[in-house]
Amino acid sequence: MRLLPSVLSAPARIVIIAAFGTMERTLARRRALVIGGSVGGLFSAHLLRATGWDVAVYERAAGDLGDRGTGIGTREELFAVMRRIGLPAGISLGIDVAGRIGLDRDGGVLHDMPVRAVNSAWSRIWRPLQQALPDACHAGGKTLSRVEPQADGVIAVFDDGTRAEGDLLVGADGLHSTVRAQFLPGLVPGYAGYVAWRGVVEATELPPELHGLLLHRMVFGFPDGELMLSIPMPAPRGEAGRACHFVWFRPATEEALAGLCTDQSGRRHGVSIPPPLIRPELIATLKHDAGALLAPQLAALVNGTAQIILQPIFDLESPRIAFGRVALVGDAAFVARPHVASGVMKAAIDAESLADALAGSDVPAALEQYNRERQPYGAALVARDRHIGAYFAAREGDPRRRSETLMREYGAAGLVRDRPIEARAVPDASSAMPGATH
Ligand SMILES: Cc1cc2nc3c(=O)[nH]c(=O)nc-3n(C[C@H](O)[C@H](O)[C@H](O)COP(=O)(O)OP(=O)(O)OC[C@H]3O[C@@H](n4cnc5c(N)ncnc54)[C@H](O)[C@@H]3O)c2cc1C
Repeated sequence: MRLLPSVLSAPARIVIIAAFGTMERTLARRRALVIGGSVGGLFSAHLLRATGWDVAVYERAAGDLGDRGTGIGTREELFAVMRRIGLPAGISLGIDVAGRIGLDRDGGVLHDMPVRAVNSAWSRIWRPLQQALPDACHAGGKTLSRVEPQADGVIAVFDDGTRAEGDLLVGADGLHSTVRAQFLPGLVPGYAGYVAWRGVVEATELPPELHGLLLHRMVFGFPDGELMLSIPMPAPRGEAGRACHFVWFRPATEEALAGLCTDQSGRRHGVSIPPPLIRPELIATLKHDAGALLAPQLAALVNGTAQIILQPIFDLESPRIAFGRVALVGDAAFVARPHVASGVMKAAIDAESLADALAGSDVPAALEQYNRERQPYGAALVARDRHIGAYFAAREGDPRRRSETLMREYGAAGLVRDRPIEARAVPDASSAMPGATH
């Protein structure tokens, strides 16, 4: 006040006082509490720090997350966010894939498409993000139990009884988000009616004559009402070279899923099961079915996998992703089925959109803007994934045309009406795919 010249008119003083008030708030760095230290949390942490926020990431797991996940498809939009953070991006994070091959049951080529891609691994995105974040910004072994919104701030309460206070809380706590459950009670992920049987196969476990196909091309198989994919990925554990992983989508009723998630002692594990506890007879049946239903090249993958993984497919659409000073990003906000292969990219762009919105206005207004921008995109992605899931499960129509359409539109290179799905625009959920039912 002392600095204001007395000759100023009243309206001018009001403007200057308002400006000084804004500056004081800016000088006292705003503090963001980020719940979850996976890709969504780390993208948020970096992008908020870059726009002047003080950031603390709280992750439930005490140890390193780098062994998680398998291969992922990438898109240029993901790399653009990596570059913005100052991290390497592009082909250096993965391997190039030369095209897509569709095989019939006998191993003959149904379709051959020159759709190129860069495939990476989840850990190759997560690890550089983690290494570039100062240790002081990260706390492992911290499980959020609830959020306490305040008039001008927000408090995170952890299950060890500790509390943290901030101006903003980012819920990046994944599929079973505690933050989402508090603000959208009753909204739970929906089971899609099918599971993914998955596995990683190292090059040494594959017959050499299959290397050219399986380590360099995405390969599709089309058992009736099912979809099998083999996807090249960088070798696991960070060494040079290639491996591949397969994902075989197969229908299972909810009752059947409960059976799949029951171990040999009869213990039920709910809707997931640790891979070593999958009953041996289920794995024997899967291998038998692979021989009966898949091309021999693809059956070799199921038989060559050291550890089969069972992943039931869920999705979830949130009507809102911002609540006052609380925002949801990544899988906490929306869970799409994996057919658009965009989960990591979406987490990155959610974080970018959030940080950009917060650079311009106060927290609740910025979060409203974030909700307006990202909620429709998440909803469209979920709808698009449901459409693809319904399309491969549907049995009517010409199978050759169906398999060709699936190969053209599946995954990170997926096209909607011959245009790539735009990651920061709202895509039209309908598509060129004929005959799919939602
Ligand atoms: C079969 C399959 C294939 C996929 N393929 C691709 C692909 O090709 N490309 C792609 O981009 N994406 C793919 N995805 C999706 C991708 O893996 C996810 O979208 C992505 O990991 C989401 O990141 P996130 O940070 O939002 O959540 P998550 O990775 O789920 O992380 C959430 C974090 O929050 C922590 N947490 C949870 N609760 C709490 C709590 N209460 N307190 C503190 N911490 C907590 C968890 O420990 C975890 O570390 C695939 C997914 C599946 C299932």
